[in-house]
Amino acid sequence: MRHISLLRRFKPQSAAAREGSDPHASGARRTRRGALRRLLSRIVYPLHRSIHVRFQFAFGLSVLGLLVMAAIAVASGRAILQNYETSVEETRLETLPILFLQRDLREIDRAGFRFAVEGDRTARERYRELAAQVDMHFQDLASTPLGMSLTPSSRGAVSLSEANSAWRSVKAKMDEMFRYEPGTAESFEASKRAYLGIDPIYSVINRFQTYSLADQQQRLLSAQTAGKESLTALVIAILVGVCVLIAMGSTVGHSVLQPIEQLRIAAGKLGQKDFSHRVRLRNSLDELGQLAAAINQASATLDKLYRELEKRSTHDGLTGALNRAAFDERLEAEFTGADRHGRPVSLLMVDIDHFKRINDTYGHQAGDRVLRLVADLFEQATRPGDVVTRYGGEEFGIILPDTGEEAALSLAERLRVVVEEASIACDDGDAIQLTVSIGCAGRLPHGATPKALVKAADAALYVAKRSGRNRVSRAGGPRLRPDPTWRAA
Ligand code: GH3
Ligand code: MG
Ligand code: MG
Repeated sequence: MRHISLLRRFKPQSAAAREGSDPHASGARRTRRGALRRLLSRIVYPLHRSIHVRFQFAFGLSVLGLLVMAAIAVASGRAILQNYETSVEETRLETLPILFLQRDLREIDRAGFRFAVEGDRTARERYRELAAQVDMHFQDLASTPLGMSLTPSSRGAVSLSEANSAWRSVKAKMDEMFRYEPGTAESFEASKRAYLGIDPIYSVINRFQTYSLADQQQRLLSAQTAGKESLTALVIAILVGVCVLIAMGSTVGHSVLQPIEQLRIAAGKLGQKDFSHRVRLRNSLDELGQLAAAINQASATLDKLYRELEKRSTHDGLTGALNRAAFDERLEAEFTGADRHGRPVSLLMVDIDHFKRINDTYGHQAGDRVLRLVADLFEQATRPGDVVTRYGGEEFGIILPDTGEEAALSLAERLRVVVEEASIACDDGDAIQLTVSIGCAGRLPHGATPKALVKAADAALYVAKRSGRNRVSRAGGPRLRPDPTWRAA
């Protein structure tokens, strides 16, 4: 006791030390943990209680998993598409105005040639249209996200403003040329000056195209990388989803199939009349747990009924001794055993003397009490291996396995004396005295079969009765004790 109280005093201290010195903080932690545990049990309890809920939960989770997988698939598909679309759009935005610019500059080139060399007056009008378009292209390029840098990698190396100022100088020279008469030497000279100014623009355009190609390559690469990442995420999501589905399916399946197997075994045992088997399930709360409880209950009831039935079919209801059917069965079994091992078997047939008188004098209930008492006396006076049976009415058959005739005779005598010396108290205070007559027979040489042994013991009993009662008689042997009153009875 002293040890326990010391331990109790020590325990809270060590717990506090483990959880930290601040009692308020550890208290708050405990409360949080308790709340978490309550929340968990609130989620898990319905799953334990019902297979129905378990299936609903698994189904819901599977659908949720599939939806998540579908959402990730859509998102990654969109991401891949978007990356490529952005890449294409950026390339388009970057390349088209430059291409138009290139095209229109060439047209301007041709218009100048037509005007200055071929003397085509209409080329002037065409030039004006083209010049307006080129102005517009420069404006478009300036309004792109990259603005004056044209391409990301060409930042600093290719400048739109450089091209723009070159274009302004070309434009001034072209305007000057178109002021001359077409096809004249002046216009031709002016056109040559103008053409010299176009070259720097082409140079910017050429540099731009070189850098633009590198940029496109870069964009394509990053779009491919983003696409691969999205695909990897999708594959991981699918794998995780499949693993979750498999884990859930096997968990739910196991939680149902394992108890069903147990129930199948229990039902088989019931069919084989093994009523001692009990189903022990880990979860006793759900439908299968309830079924197991019902089977266990039925087994217990059947076990009890079966034992009762068995007892009633082999035991006498009044005295509790084995009945006549059990007598025949046991005698047969003892004979078989004795045959196999060469052992002796003896039989005592016991009859209560003048029992009718006891009934008549003290009543049948007193007679019943006498029968119970005699059975008890025989049970107490014999060895555990001896078989005391109520042969019928007020007769008892006592099988003595492994007992020779001499030993059987002395036991019979002892039983006779025990009964003679016993007295049974009646309701009115009288004491009933009684005696028994006993016929004794050994298996050899008198009874080679159970039937013959019974017959021999019966005959000996008859002799005991005829010799005056309250005595033991051996089969084929002399009376053991003369009865002076038997004639009178
Ligand atoms: P004997 O000495 O010659 O054996 O005389 P007896 O009176 O004992 O024999 P008898 O065969 O004339 O009578 C047996 C009586 O036992 C008759 C029957 O009513 C009674 N008896 C048989 N079974 C029971 C029982 O279960 N309870 C009671 N109270 N009496 C029983
Ligand atoms: Mg009798
Ligand atoms: Mg009798």
